[in-house]
Amino acid sequence: MYEPADWIGVDRGIVNLATTSDGTNHQGRRLSRYRRWQARKRAEFQARRPRSATRRLARRAQKERRHATHVSSWPFHQLGHHLAYKARKAGVPFLEVDARHTSQRCPRCGHTERANRPTRDHFRCRRCGLAGPADVVAGVNVRDRARSAWAFVTMPVPHPV
Ligand SMILES: [Zn+2]
Repeated sequence: MYEPADWIGVDRGIVNLATTSDGTNHQGRRLSRYRRWQARKRAEFQARRPRSATRRLARRAQKERRHATHVSSWPFHQLGHHLAYKARKAGVPFLEVDARHTSQRCPRCGHTERANRPTRDHFRCRRCGLAGPADVVAGVNVRDRARSAWAFVTMPVPHPV
């Protein structure tokens, strides 16, 4: 039976669009470019200090927030389709797994608790002490889930008697 040599788990997030189980962060390139452009505009405004600068700065900040929400929610949903497409093209199996508790579960001992993730970015297992970036830990959990899900999918189905 076909058994993939390895899996790559992808954790999707808002700050880092995707974090893979090998610890790589992928950011939306367009979004970071847009944020840099906004920061430059802000600096220009502050340097010139026109009379209405404060009001315009406030309006700009609001606009920027709206844009970031829009831009990052779009790829967040599209990413799944894109990954599936790329995987099919490359001829590798693609599985979507249940993402529940992937950021609260310890990949070493299996202990699952909300307190394992004290902040958005950090993971520390309350039972065994395993620590690391929360999104990488989630990526590892996703990978492990895909591995066991695949075994289940390819298991011979017993015929009803
Ligand atoms: Zn643990």
